[in-house]
Amino acid sequence: MSNDFAQQTILVVDDEPSNIQTLGNLLKADYRIRVANSGEKALALLQDTGRTQPDLILLDIEMPGIDGYEVCRRLKENPVTRAIPIIFVTARNATSDEEYGLNLGAVDYIGKPFTPAIVRARVNTHMRLKRETERLEQYALLDSLTDIPNRRRFDELFDNEMRRCLRDRQPLSLIIMDIDYFKDFNDAYGHGAGDQCLQRVARALAGKPSRPGDRLFRYGGEEFVALLPATDTASARAVAEHLRATVERLAIRHEYSSAAPVVTVSLGTATLDPGQDSKKDHGSLFKRADEALYAAKKAGRNRVG
Ligand code: GH3
Ligand code: MG
Ligand code: MG
Ligand code: MG
Repeated sequence: MSNDFAQQTILVVDDEPSNIQTLGNLLKADYRIRVANSGEKALALLQDTGRTQPDLILLDIEMPGIDGYEVCRRLKENPVTRAIPIIFVTARNATSDEEYGLNLGAVDYIGKPFTPAIVRARVNTHMRLKRETERLEQYALLDSLTDIPNRRRFDELFDNEMRRCLRDRQPLSLIIMDIDYFKDFNDAYGHGAGDQCLQRVARALAGKPSRPGDRLFRYGGEEFVALLPATDTASARAVAEHLRATVERLAIRHEYSSAAPVVTVSLGTATLDPGQDSKKDHGSLFKRADEALYAAKKAGRNRVG
């Protein structure tokens, strides 16, 4: 087994120290092992949002207090822990127990006494599936042309940042950008040149938002959005102006633009101030930024609205 497994973590939950030790010894060469000797401790560990989640849980069923079935049920109910694969490792060997455990959402069921080589093989299989799923999930959130996060990722993060902004009573700013006369660019220089232009603009913009929490996304077509947590109106406008100048400085020739001889963007900004604004939903904030973008287009493009 190679070292790329070293970073994956297994949580072993069992009330019997010798079981924890046996499983730990069996798997510690390939995975990081964490342990909990009760259902209560396992749940406390997994609900601590400051910790990274394990990649797999080996879960005993018969334990004093909260048993393995109940641990599994609670983890599957919670969106934060739902996706962690669970393998029951248990002395309950009846077919009905196995069926019950699998129906609770466990990915596998191993009876005790177990054969070490089989446990290792099954764990390896589930860990491989976990890595592949994660890789696909990452792809699903990236725009394939520009390699920056896509609209799906934006929707997720917009939701998170919105909640954080309301909870922490911090402003949240949004910038929407749209390339000026891009249809004419495509018509004049061809779709391939259009794609390259989008890539260059994305790369330049992605390198710009200045604070660590700032994020850029390709929203669709020739539109990009930036999320700026804890950023007030004046700062958001300053960032937008900076982004506008960045694209202009790329100096990508665009003879058919009425805004400039080069490719430019128009931008709209909006800020949610939880202490002041009465409308505190995604839709209203996005709409305000979009209206500002429309105003920038109307006022001549290559500007912040
Ligand atoms: P405006 O200044 O008002 O924004 O005009 P515009 O021409 O930029 O806007 P319009 O919405 O009419 O056209 C957008 C163009 O963007 C049309 C479409 O062909 C092009 N486009 C969208 N996605 C892509 C893409 O992935 N690659 C390329 N090459 N072009 C794209
Ligand atoms: Mg037990
Ligand atoms: Mg557009
Ligand atoms: Mg456009």
